[in-house]
Amino acid sequence: MAFLAVDLGGSHISYGLVENNELAACDDIDVPNSERLAPVLPLLRGHLSKLIEGYRGSIEGVGIGFCGVVDEGQNRVASTNGKYVDAPDLDLTAWSRESLSLGMRLANDARLALRGEMSAGAACGETNVVMLTLGTGIGGVAAIDGKLPSGAHGFAAGIGGHTPGTLHGRVCTCGGRGCAESEASGWVLPILCREQPDFATSQLAHVELNFRNLFRLAETGDPVALRLREHCLRVWAVATVAAIHSFDPAVVVFGGGIMQAEAVILPSIRTYVERNAWAPRGAPRIVRSQLGNRAALFGVERLFQDRPCV
Ligand SMILES: [Zn+2]
Repeated sequence: MAFLAVDLGGSHISYGLVENNELAACDDIDVPNSERLAPVLPLLRGHLSKLIEGYRGSIEGVGIGFCGVVDEGQNRVASTNGKYVDAPDLDLTAWSRESLSLGMRLANDARLALRGEMSAGAACGETNVVMLTLGTGIGGVAAIDGKLPSGAHGFAAGIGGHTPGTLHGRVCTCGGRGCAESEASGWVLPILCREQPDFATSQLAHVELNFRNLFRLAETGDPVALRLREHCLRVWAVATVAAIHSFDPAVVVFGGGIMQAEAVILPSIRTYVERNAWAPRGAPRIVRSQLGNRAALFGVERLFQDRPCV
């Protein structure tokens, strides 16, 4: 059985056709303005229609990952924070039926990526898994006993990047305070850098403020870059311990663009977890995503297994 797969990200949309854990014909659409989703849908429909026309077999449905809080039971976007702000008012099930003649299943993009890693990636064969995604924001999702829990509103174990890690931390885009995301993510890094009292003395003052440059300058011994790198590593490690204590995973998968610095990040987190997690039977394996930014597309088959269209 084949499925259309769509990952609605903030800056681009990935899409493709997934069948038996193989991804075919995948591509990306740039989305220069992701303030609203409705104007993007005709473009998406055009690309998906071409995929349908070019496929000889039967397509069972379309699975969509969304960069916000999704009520999977209702198949609707529940809340967004700045991207596609009109999405909660859109009936994407009706759009899919009318535009593509296909049933649709909607999921949070991080929960869909976790399904992908469990089906064809770093957590293949595992049933108790946490996935943390380090990028512009921080995603944090968990599967327990092979299932992604629903909770009262459909997003249990799905917004771990917003687990508070400090009492008096920075206000976050989610409305909370001291979340992992508001303490160490791509969007907050430039703010963190400029707040350093000795920022002007650092090479950071002369480059684009992103994690690639932060890790590069830390390697050269730049004191401000080193200090901020250690701060971010600690935030991610504390979030990992919180997730381990909450979900008791066998494996923790790290994804996201910041994982280009895997060689620094993973050993640091493993060391912190060994020392600080209450794991009497041993710490979980801590590994990098194998599917990268295609993980959500790979998760669509499992999404339909979890929530078949009726
Ligand atoms: Zn938050």
